[in-house]
Amino acid sequence: MIEQYSWGRIKASKPAQIDFPSANYSFLQRELQYLAKGNLRSYGDEAYNDNGIILNTLHLDHFIHFDRANGVLELESGVLLEQILNLIVPCGWFLPVTPGTKYITVGGAVANDVHGKNHHKVGSFGCFVDSFTLLRSDGLIYQCSRELNSHYFYATIGGMGLTGIILRVKLNLLTVNNHAIVTKAYKFRNLEHYMELNAELERQSTYTVAWIDCLASGRSLGRGVYYTGEHAGYLERLPAINYNKRTFPFTPTKSLINGLTLKAFNTLYYNRPVAKSPQLVHYDPFFYPLDKLLNWNRIYGRKGFYQYQCVIPNAASDAMREILRRISISGNGSFLAVLKTFGSISSGGMMSFPRPGLALALDFANRGNSTLDLFRSLDDIVLTHGGAIYAAKDATQSREVFEAGYPQLNEFIKYIDPLFSSNLWRRLYGN
Ligand SMILES: Cc1cc2nc3c(=O)[nH]c(=O)nc-3n(C[C@H](O)[C@H](O)[C@H](O)COP(=O)(O)OP(=O)(O)OC[C@H]3O[C@@H](n4cnc5c(N)ncnc54)[C@H](O)[C@@H]3O)c2cc1C
Repeated sequence: MIEQYSWGRIKASKPAQIDFPSANYSFLQRELQYLAKGNLRSYGDEAYNDNGIILNTLHLDHFIHFDRANGVLELESGVLLEQILNLIVPCGWFLPVTPGTKYITVGGAVANDVHGKNHHKVGSFGCFVDSFTLLRSDGLIYQCSRELNSHYFYATIGGMGLTGIILRVKLNLLTVNNHAIVTKAYKFRNLEHYMELNAELERQSTYTVAWIDCLASGRSLGRGVYYTGEHAGYLERLPAINYNKRTFPFTPTKSLINGLTLKAFNTLYYNRPVAKSPQLVHYDPFFYPLDKLLNWNRIYGRKGFYQYQCVIPNAASDAMREILRRISISGNGSFLAVLKTFGSISSGGMMSFPRPGLALALDFANRGNSTLDLFRSLDDIVLTHGGAIYAAKDATQSREVFEAGYPQLNEFIKYIDPLFSSNLWRRLYGN
């Protein structure tokens, strides 16, 4: 039996077959459903296709063309962001948008229209996709861009793999001087203080993100540390990077994140001194601190974990306070609690998650019904205040919450490939 695990490791997926797609792939088994997978860094059931055919894109790993003068890169969809960075950074280019891990494929980045720490300034990954090719089960390859087959273009960006398989992508890159980032850290006392600080720092800074102490309560609710970053100017001496990665070696029976370890970590992390002056660092620890410990997802034990990521419109910051309050009371949650505001630049992706507002992401060890009850109570707040849950992280949201969060859903449904489906889609809409 073939088994696959997504990043949250809640349960294994059992596809009937795993295939290696190519430009002349034929969709023969019409009684089965198809779905592409990238590097399985989505957390829930979005890249699962139980009893269907999984198209493993990891062998679509060729660079096609790199226009070094203009920063335009054409490549196959299974190339990892890490491989792109290794190629382009020494040539003075960078990914214009990157999520918190470089171990994802370009196809996965398009299919979830991923966002990064600069969303408030530049929007999401799809904003920098010039064009791509999409193979659908009618056997045709569609050239898609803002001008060509634009309905497939906008349905596929953020389209959760449901519109077909992306074969090749043409990306516009960002010019940089070198691999260094200038970063600065600021502590904030609570959510109100975060909002004040953010209003000021977001205007000035390219990259912003905040860690919050998800156990803090009362007047300290939402306290944390705010980080900003800029690509460095010309430098004579560049910061080095320690390339030694560690691997979390085993999957413990129980989650190692519990009330005690979390309280100790959060208190120590919040109270540790932060440098008053800006620091110069390599981009790797700035953008990808978690990638340093390979397989860190095993820390949550055999039952796995969920990530809960929601966005709430800016006007509803009271709703975010209530979300934080419920998480704090639950005593659950993780040391990786991230708060960030999204700006108003949209890629146009019909199902894209980022939209203006306050976004919160944090991990929860799978404690069965108590975790699910907590999510349901958070979902109610998201629903009432016009927010949305991110499909890349989701394994539990209801159809009602999903439909309310994605107003272009009915338009999107027209472009779903009739032979493509996923566990996520069947969870929401049945067969
Ligand atoms: C540590 C960590 C940090 C993260 N930080 C962020 C973040 O900051 N911002 C953010 O937005 N996300 C973040 N993510 C989520 C991650 O960026 C997305 O889930 C991404 O889509 C995963 O890409 P993947 O290649 O692993 O795809 P998979 O997880 O394998 O698949 C994800 C989806 O993409 C589809 N897909 C993959 N390849 C193709 C293709 N070639 N054609 C069509 N569809 C395809 C699949 O069908 C599936 O629906 C993070 C994840 C982790 C583990």
